[in-house]
Amino acid sequence: AGTKTRRVLAFVRVKPTSHFAQDMIKLGSDNKSIDIYIRKSPRGGIVNNTQTDWSFKLDGLLHNASQEMVYEAVAKDLVSKALQGYNGTIMCYGQTGAGKTYTMTGAASEYRNRGIIPRAIQQIFKSAAEFLNILVTVRISYLEIYNETLFDLLAPALGRGCKDNQLTVMDGPQGVYVKGLSIHPVSHEEEALHLLFEGETNRVIGEHSLNKNSSRSHCIFTMFIECRSRDYTNHKCLKSKITLIDLAGSERLSKTGSEGQVRIEASYINKSLTFLEQLVIALADPKREHIPFRQSKLTHVLKDSLGGNCNTVLVTNIYGEAEHLEETLSSLRFATRMNWVTAEPVPNKPFYREVGTGGPGGGAILLYYN
Ligand code: ADP
Ligand code: MG
Repeated sequence: AGTKTRRVLAFVRVKPTSHFAQDMIKLGSDNKSIDIYIRKSPRGGIVNNTQTDWSFKLDGLLHNASQEMVYEAVAKDLVSKALQGYNGTIMCYGQTGAGKTYTMTGAASEYRNRGIIPRAIQQIFKSAAEFLNILVTVRISYLEIYNETLFDLLAPALGRGCKDNQLTVMDGPQGVYVKGLSIHPVSHEEEALHLLFEGETNRVIGEHSLNKNSSRSHCIFTMFIECRSRDYTNHKCLKSKITLIDLAGSERLSKTGSEGQVRIEASYINKSLTFLEQLVIALADPKREHIPFRQSKLTHVLKDSLGGNCNTVLVTNIYGEAEHLEETLSSLRFATRMNWVTAEPVPNKPFYREVGTGGPGGGAILLYYN
């Protein structure tokens, strides 16, 4: 099977509302197109622009979609491809409150409310249990980027404040990694879920201790997967990773005249999302040679997780109410740009472990620790 170029998949999820602006937002019956109509108000309109109609066509609209339906549409195939050696990335983008964290993590209260991460964990361990001859190992890390500083959500004491343990983004021979970020081997579903919820708790604690809101930071949950034969004479290994990203709220706070800490946060977020947007534009342009990965921590960390050889999916979370139409428009524009990015997914090359400890496999994994 040869490689084929495909686009990054872009989905739009509409947050349920009883005040859906049906005269302004028209969802196509193909479940892919979305049209926006803005009637000019006497005061000059919400958008200071002569254009009043926009049409977007994406890979799918998730409207009144359950968590299970979202998982089926967005993640299921990407996760099974990861078990065949393909790297996969899923990213949630949108303004605060639009449903990014609900989509990515969901609510722990009831199973049906669980989001993409716990469902992906379940799928991996379920598949692993079904493989007769293949041993699957899973390792997890959970990184937060707040005001251009990296925090380890699974080792908060190490990640926060202490100079000696500053986390840094590094370009290694195996790709980009975060030096100092803890990586945790997990052997069953419950163990992985436990780490996810521990990380979520550290996000919440952070909100109080640093007076920040989790919507002001980017959170990246990564699963490093390794498949090898159960036959101990066969040393072939296949590695892949799944990167699941809950981005900071995309609303542009600068114009609301916020002050102090909030203003600093807003400018960091605006910058990192603007750099992400510039990166996406560069990635979508086949003539561009320079791809600006190093402009922010977020884009640097995501260097080999967007497009390229990965399966990449974007979920843009939007509100359906009239009052959020301006942010909805800008989110849909981002989704369209992302949709232009092409990728050529290819499975990672298998490598061979040496007998005993160490060897190229062991070394590659240690890279993530150091
Ligand atoms: P964000 O992370 O984008 O700031 P959240 O995911 O925290 O937004 O969502 C804000 C609130 O709306 C939460 O209470 C969440 O449970 C709820 N919510 C978001 N999307 C949905 C949905 N599709 N169905 C039900 N509740 C939702
Ligand atoms: Mg959130």
